[in-house]
Amino acid sequence: MSDSEHFDTLIVGAGFAGSVMAERLAARLGQRVLVVDRRPHIAGNAYDEADEHGVLVHRYGPHIFHTQSAKVVDYLSRFTGWRTYEHRVLAQLEGGLRVPMPINRTTINLLYGLDLRTEEDVVAFLADRAEPVEYVRTSEDAVVSKVGRELYETFFRGYTRKQWQRDPSELHASVCGRLPTRTNTDDRYFTDDFQQMPLAGYTRMFERILDHPRIEVRLSTDLEDVRGEVAYDHLVYTGPIDAFFGYRFGALPYRSLEWELETVETPDRGLVQPCASINFPSENVAHTRITEYRWLTGQTHTASTLAVEYPRTEGDPYYPIPNQETRGLYKRYAALAAELPEVTFVGRLARYQYLNMDQVVGQALATFEGLVDSGAVAEVPVA
Ligand code: FAD
Ligand code: UDP
Repeated sequence: MSDSEHFDTLIVGAGFAGSVMAERLAARLGQRVLVVDRRPHIAGNAYDEADEHGVLVHRYGPHIFHTQSAKVVDYLSRFTGWRTYEHRVLAQLEGGLRVPMPINRTTINLLYGLDLRTEEDVVAFLADRAEPVEYVRTSEDAVVSKVGRELYETFFRGYTRKQWQRDPSELHASVCGRLPTRTNTDDRYFTDDFQQMPLAGYTRMFERILDHPRIEVRLSTDLEDVRGEVAYDHLVYTGPIDAFFGYRFGALPYRSLEWELETVETPDRGLVQPCASINFPSENVAHTRITEYRWLTGQTHTASTLAVEYPRTEGDPYYPIPNQETRGLYKRYAALAAELPEVTFVGRLARYQYLNMDQVVGQALATFEGLVDSGAVAEVPVA
């Protein structure tokens, strides 16, 4: 094997986890890093590209950036400017009524023809309906204990059964617990202090993260393609952990999605939907949500592209499924991983965690610091 084929670290996956690790190892430690991704592009699930109408679309579904972490914002701001964007969602019910989601005071007033005026009014309304449970374990517990069974059935049960092919009672509380219940009229989907989109898109930001003379990127390249071909001291793996170990304890379950793209002519350069996403909680509708990308990008084109999202069992592994059973299986794989100090597992698939982008960046930064502190990776002496 020639010298040129030796890398300090081989990184599998060019998504947030792999790209942030690559940048840190190269820029902070001077390591020579090879990043491989089996897909023909960088940016992992955050990949975006212009479609034939010039609309920037996210190939793996709408990605909205929001965070409370100043550390993550400081880090990413070295590679991108930002555009303020606050995400809003309406739920379309059977019969066509559209109401704000997450549930807020407006949602309740519209749904029940009420005129609740204060936060106290809503607290009292929900308290009447909430069914307290001793321990909030499942997603059903998480919602029913806050808003009662009727609102749970209207907004959560059908959507969740479609998305996860499981009842909310079979999913960890954190799944539906991602959505708050509001007593005010705030109709933003997120309330994080930082809600901004990368100014020129995610892919451009990743190009800049990976733009370092000591980082080489090979696309359409699987780990197996390079395993025997290149030498490396350390491996950073951001793919599915069960695949890494040849599924020896059985496959971890994931949910997948498929998007149907629809383009609508907009000669006045306006938008088609009243907000970025419309959710469809009814089980009688096959899709879960429709998102209009130009809301996210701020583009003013004469066409608008919408993604209709369909949950799938087969396909790319997008969502780890958090519940007790999968936790047990994951832990068995994590125990194998712990026996391999020369391999670092990081990211949504490698840790089998339902993480947002900012959480993955934070995890990668912390993992890098941990590797440095433990001496597992070291600064490369200047030749
Ligand atoms: P990934 O982006 O999945 O990257 C892993 C990469 O590893 C992939 O590119 C894959 O091709 C590659 N790979 C795997 N195995 C191999 C192998 N053997 N050889 C070579 N390459 C391999 N987060 C938000 O903050 N806001 C959102 O609005 C949001 N929306 C989302 C919507 C959807 C539909 C999905 C699925 C996720 C969403 N997320 C969102 C989460 C976000 O996508 C993830 O947090 C983030 O992309 C995870 O980064 P990662 O690097 O861990 O994984
Ligand atoms: N959810 C729901 N109804 C909705 C929106 C969300 O039941 O209108 C549940 C569903 O189980 C979903 C979870 O809450 O998977 C988390 O929602 P989020 O919008 O955060 O999902 P993601 O954007 O990660 O797909």
